[in-house]
Amino acid sequence: MERIAVFPGSFDPFTVGHENIVKRGLNLFDHIIIGVGYNSAKHYLFDIEQRRTFIKTLFDGDSRVSVEKFSNLTVDFVKEKKAHAILRGLRTAADFEYERAIAQVNRQMSGVDSVFLLTTPEHTPVNSSIVRDILKHNGDASMFIPEKIYNLILKNNN
Ligand code: ADP
Repeated sequence: MERIAVFPGSFDPFTVGHENIVKRGLNLFDHIIIGVGYNSAKHYLFDIEQRRTFIKTLFDGDSRVSVEKFSNLTVDFVKEKKAHAILRGLRTAADFEYERAIAQVNRQMSGVDSVFLLTTPEHTPVNSSIVRDILKHNGDASMFIPEKIYNLILKNNN
């Protein structure tokens, strides 16, 4: 049976840290569905279509990865996709405390477990909100964003 994981997040924007989690997740799962979250109460730098297009371009040609947007509860999206697990990355103790509560509630609601991958040391400080700040101030964020995505961002800005 094909083992499927959903990797949910805002991905505003998708960073090299996120890419690393997907690549390593593919050693554990046959298929990863990257769920790009949309919450109307949140203000994003990149809209849902841009965020989805960026990630689709990055994994274009890799049939083990698909990219979908969702706005319902993560557990409902996971059930809809018949996925076996939720994949998340853990950078710090603060991430752990936040993720622990969500994962426990998700499991209680759906029976679906979350699987956490610890960040590789070089990706620990990479964080979408810092990357957004760099982009907003026209700084060079090329080391934090996969090259294909960064090129698209630069193209959109010109
Ligand atoms: P959310 O709004 O759901 O926290 P994010 O896009 O910020 O969405 O993150 C999605 C997932 O990726 C989370 O599990 C987060 O911990 C993980 N993540 C974010 N940045 C990194 C990184 N640099 N290395 C590894 N995992 C990361």
